[in-house]
Amino acid sequence: MNRAVFLDRDHTLIEDPGYLSDPDAVKLLPGVELAIKSLHQAGYKIVVCTNQSAIARGILTEESLEKIHAEMRRQLADKGAHLDAIYYCPYHPEGTVDKYAMQSDLRKPKPGMLLKGAKEHDIDLSQSWMVGDSPRDIEAGHRAGCRTIRMRLGGEVSSAEGADEDVQADFTVRNLVDAARIVLRETDRTATWDSARPTAAVATAPAASEVQPDCARAQEGDPRAGPVSMSDSQVRMEILSHLRRLVRRGEHEEFSFLKLAGGIVQMLALLTLLIAVLKVLASHPRLNDAIFWALIAIALQVMSLTFFSIHRNK
Ligand SMILES: [Mg+2]
Repeated sequence: MNRAVFLDRDHTLIEDPGYLSDPDAVKLLPGVELAIKSLHQAGYKIVVCTNQSAIARGILTEESLEKIHAEMRRQLADKGAHLDAIYYCPYHPEGTVDKYAMQSDLRKPKPGMLLKGAKEHDIDLSQSWMVGDSPRDIEAGHRAGCRTIRMRLGGEVSSAEGADEDVQADFTVRNLVDAARIVLRETDRTATWDSARPTAAVATAPAASEVQPDCARAQEGDPRAGPVSMSDSQVRMEILSHLRRLVRRGEHEEFSFLKLAGGIVQMLALLTLLIAVLKVLASHPRLNDAIFWALIAIALQVMSLTFFSIHRNK
């Protein structure tokens, strides 16, 4: 049987502008092609499972969704990566298009898409993973019998479903590269245990300081951890560690007009503050003038902090 990593689409594989309907707006998240290629090399199929209530709501047609997915596949292919399958659920009980206005077992948090994918691609769900950014992704993964990884881009909780924190993923990470590292690490540990169980002598759990396992099972440590040798999987993990640093550096160095504006305004703020101080020192009779410049400096400082804040929360 095969094993797979099931991926949510929006905010996991591509940016999520909210009800994406234009193929030109498809934008891969940083590093996803690297994560997908590494998982493929480790023998995982990559299967996307995405709720598309926009179809039931009349915002999108199945034909236009196919174009969006074709564009997503094209961008991945340009970077040497591919998806094995994409499943989507067009149904929603509150839809306005009669054909799609209904409950469906395909819609996450129900596991229908994962079960269908497993059946059609001969996938062993107990050896598979579900990766997504919302609680419903995690619940669907658990209900299908997969292990789960929650994406928290920039540490934030995404979308309206963020309020539901009852669902606990096996691991929480910041991007798909880190998720791939977890999958490879856990795969390697399982394989090592299977091959070395009778003589396990040295329990060595690879460190993962950036990873925050948030379920009891992960926090207690995995008793299956056995002796670890330098395997192909670990070499891949090392490569992914390097890539993760590059991805994060890229995220930090990404050009932003707001960041630029914030920097310029902050320089102006400091300059006007300096003028205010000089005026106070140089001419006491003109104190009102100095206060004026000080107020300008404070206003500019507030403005620059606002720009930075908006940039960070984008
Ligand atoms: Mg999502």
